[in-house]
Amino acid sequence: MQLLYRSTRNNTETVTASEAILKGLAPDGGLYVPDTIPLLKTPVEELSRMSYREVAFNVMKEFLTDFTDEELLECINKAYDEKFDSEEIAPLVKKADAYFLELFHGSTIAFKDMALSILPHLMITSARKNNIQNEIVILTATSGDTGKAAMAGFADVKGTRIIVFYPEGGVSPAQEKQMVTQKGDNTFVVGIKGNFDQAQSGVKEIFGNKELEKEMLGAGFQFSSANSINIGRLVPQIVYYVYAYAQLFAKGEIAKDEKINFVVPTGNFGNILAAYYAKRMGLPINKLICASNENKVLYDFFSTGEYDKNRDFILTTSPSMDILISSNLERLIYEIAGYDSRKNAEFMKSLAETGKYEITDKMREQLEEFYANYSSEEETAEVIRSLEQKHKYIIDTHTAVAASVYEKYVQESGDSTKTVIVSTASPFKFARSVMNAIDPKYDALSEEELVEELSSRGGIKVPKAIEELKDAPVRHETVCEPEQMENEIKKFLGL
Ligand SMILES: *Cc1c(COP(=O)(O)O)cnc(C)c1O
Repeated sequence: MQLLYRSTRNNTETVTASEAILKGLAPDGGLYVPDTIPLLKTPVEELSRMSYREVAFNVMKEFLTDFTDEELLECINKAYDEKFDSEEIAPLVKKADAYFLELFHGSTIAFKDMALSILPHLMITSARKNNIQNEIVILTATSGDTGKAAMAGFADVKGTRIIVFYPEGGVSPAQEKQMVTQKGDNTFVVGIKGNFDQAQSGVKEIFGNKELEKEMLGAGFQFSSANSINIGRLVPQIVYYVYAYAQLFAKGEIAKDEKINFVVPTGNFGNILAAYYAKRMGLPINKLICASNENKVLYDFFSTGEYDKNRDFILTTSPSMDILISSNLERLIYEIAGYDSRKNAEFMKSLAETGKYEITDKMREQLEEFYANYSSEEETAEVIRSLEQKHKYIIDTHTAVAASVYEKYVQESGDSTKTVIVSTASPFKFARSVMNAIDPKYDALSEEELVEELSSRGGIKVPKAIEELKDAPVRHETVCEPEQMENEIKKFLGL
């Protein structure tokens, strides 16, 4: 049976999975959601004997029903290969009282690789299936990691171009260097004088610009998105939750049907939404623990029922989570509003006009399976320090936000359910913040010295992604005001 997708803002029309992937965002500004969330058919005993690729196939085929098995297998095989420096693709590491699910073994050493190494293949396949002749222009806003991971995936892919907007000065030095040194004639990187929310709002506006769309079509271009608003990013992210569960079962750490918790360091709400979908597929999950940094708009939302982005934007040591408008929350709102797209559209209109909205008590009751909290900068640093001291395990700042919130959760709830902390980036990507947390004396070191020190102290090899940065020439120097984004796009496309 074909699974169709509808917009969260007008659910009267349906599209296929491949059409949803091609479009990225629905024409009404809403996000595509599946009509129903399919159940996971493969029993855990079987899943526990499967490779990452095999689990990926079993999960993704339930969502991408208009892809043939051959098409999907080809995408999966091209994505999850030697680009990853771990054969397991997403290894589980047991430290302290939790399991860390390391999602940073891909080519750009952050979890975005998990989905962005497959998205280009899904996109090209979707274009072929729908007889699209236009060149696909991937338009992406990044808080630091999506941009590089998307470009790594799309660089020199025929029939595509990719444009990335990032907040200048709002990402880590390694993140920025990774982006501005990006190769590939079809890539274009622009720093904006603003924050991630401005980049993301600008991109969403451009998606909704009908005049530009016409002009693009005339020149043989059409837009799509590599942000987690694209269902083609969300679906591959469900895979590693299932894989993690199957691995715990395979290792004898959990019994059949035993529930586990997941702690997810959250920004745009894409990663944790994938965990929620995994739960809805039938994966035995107890609590979905949503961890924020000091930009704690989600914590406030879960505690009060009011989403309010009217507050200062704080630059933290976990920049990929410096976000006040968590786009993917819209998919959850739509769901708890009883699939009422009109009601959801009203909330989103209110968010756009006043910066806030408040959900009803009936909707709040459905959020019981979530626990949310946040970690201050000091608490985040403290967790990095103590894990290194006690367990010789060095985690990055985003993962540390999650580990810190997990400590709070255990203290508050006394819950001893086995728990997986989703580890979203390599510490090498945020070397200065990580090493400063371990010992402030490191602040005197240069970026390169920090990397060396991190490597020897942690007993971990410097990842290729960091080695490569050393002598990479800068290829992208464009910086613009948020209002100039459309102009820059036109220049790059020659419109
Ligand atoms: C993107 C990112 C996050 C946040 O993920 P969302 O899906 O936006 O919630 C957390 N950590 C790192 C390292 C990231 O790159």
